[in-house]
Amino acid sequence: MAYVINEPCAGSKDAACTLVCPVDCIHPTPDEPGYAEAVQLYINPAECIDCYACMDECPVSAITPGDMVPPKWQQYIEINATYYKDQPA
Ligand code: SF4
Repeated sequence: MAYVINEPCAGSKDAACTLVCPVDCIHPTPDEPGYAEAVQLYINPAECIDCYACMDECPVSAITPGDMVPPKWQQYIEINATYYKDQPA
């Protein structure tokens, strides 16, 4: 199950995670359109390979494996996925 970016990312958007993801599945990056307006960063569940690299990079501990998302953040599984459903192909 793909990794998930949870609530602590909002207001931080540190983006260190985007530099280590081997499959470039975390967006928007600071140099992409929409970064300034984005509430947080999002992991594309269709592309994440569960490599764990991003989790340790996050300075606010916002990233968890999909099957370890705390109950209070369960909605972030769908929030991450929905971001990519809304993006043009
Ligand atoms: Fe990218 Fe790996 Fe994090 Fe998935 S677990 S978002 S592939 S760095």
